[in-house]
Amino acid sequence: MRRFFSSPVTKTMSSYAAARTAATGKNVWVEFIDLALKYKPANLGQGFPDFAPPTFLKQALARAAMIDSLNQYTRSKGHGRLVQAIAKYYSPLHKKEIDPMNNILVTVGAYGALYCGINSLVDSGDEVVVIEPFFDSYLPCIKAAGGIPKCVPLRPKSKEVLLSADLTLDPDELAAAFSSKTKAVLLNTPNNPTGKVFERKELEMIADLCKKHDAICVSDEVYEYLVYEGEHIRIATLPGMWERTLTIGSAGKAFSVTGWKIGWTIGPAELIAAAHSIMVNCNYTCATPLQEGVALAFEREWEQKGKNDSYFVELPSVLKEKRAEIVKMLNDVGMKPIIPQGGYFILADTAPLNVSFEGEDAYDFQFCRWLTKSKGIAAIPSSAFYSREHSHLAGKCVRFCFGKSESTLQAARARFEEWKKEF
Ligand code: PMP
Ligand code: GLN
Repeated sequence: MRRFFSSPVTKTMSSYAAARTAATGKNVWVEFIDLALKYKPANLGQGFPDFAPPTFLKQALARAAMIDSLNQYTRSKGHGRLVQAIAKYYSPLHKKEIDPMNNILVTVGAYGALYCGINSLVDSGDEVVVIEPFFDSYLPCIKAAGGIPKCVPLRPKSKEVLLSADLTLDPDELAAAFSSKTKAVLLNTPNNPTGKVFERKELEMIADLCKKHDAICVSDEVYEYLVYEGEHIRIATLPGMWERTLTIGSAGKAFSVTGWKIGWTIGPAELIAAAHSIMVNCNYTCATPLQEGVALAFEREWEQKGKNDSYFVELPSVLKEKRAEIVKMLNDVGMKPIIPQGGYFILADTAPLNVSFEGEDAYDFQFCRWLTKSKGIAAIPSSAFYSREHSHLAGKCVRFCFGKSESTLQAARARFEEWKKEF
């Protein structure tokens, strides 16, 4: 209970904090980023590229900062030049004339897009179907909005999971998670952390359930340009889905500038207006020079589309090589990687290494702490991407990020090799 008479000095967070703050729980990034700062491992943990972002983008930002008017507030729903550029780029991809003024909302990263989207849809008691493993912000966000998550895990198609495509949805389990209370479903393709790229028939199954239960699909597609096998299919392009889909993107992931924190949502005008009503009283608008920079990047991409100079062609081809490198590295040390079709993460089963721990925490958390402190390599526990109910499905898997510079990957390789000598 709140202690009204405690002095400001003795006041504790828990006595004053709103109930919704309890929905957050422990945040995996806070612990593992602090650990990486302290131990300075070869950092294959947090998902950000530590190689240089494209020069054209840095130059665009520098130029924008020199134009006085671009250092002031811009349009709340999204800077004019950016929404024009996004509409132009995405209209053919969505097979739909996207209205830059009404079908797009620019937010503080994809985090902001998820927060505004979920909070604009979910009322207390509404159910939200979440396909897991999922990006860890989904559940706290749903719960803080008063929603009830209904988690449906991807399950192994066969005994041995070698590829992310071996993880699939059980159609009956998915259908059973929907009800008359379902307000939305959260999808992430390519998926973080598995790298799964959802196939057309899987998306059709989700789309049919959305239509049957009159639910909205929030489709997190921040890794849309990082696909190595399969095809990135936008669920919004399936029949009857434009009207009921919010599609989320991130400049951080598309252009390797995670620090810029520019995200966007594309969707029907009414849903965008609702998401904007959440955003307008929180951020009101996003940083103008950064939006101008991302606009110029999309304009450039439009001109280079499909050519070798396109960043969306260059980045996945570079990352595909890094994927091969990390697969070899993990195999060599005796782990069992699950080869991702997309994104820049890879899950690996650490069970064959036979490392044991005494503590009571989840095995993968203990493993990742130990790997950072004792072996100088950072990874993220995969159970952080599961609901408590299904966290056992994470097993002894941990997540490595291979969207890293050659020097970071080399450092990790050297440390793995050092470790191997102990076997
Ligand atoms: N969704 C997924 C699946 C992510 O991995 C991330 C982290 N990049 C986000 C959303 C948040 O993206 P941003 O950094 O643009 O806020
Ligand atoms: N999306 C990134 C990841 O999955 C970073 C998330 C974060 O640092 N909060 O690693």
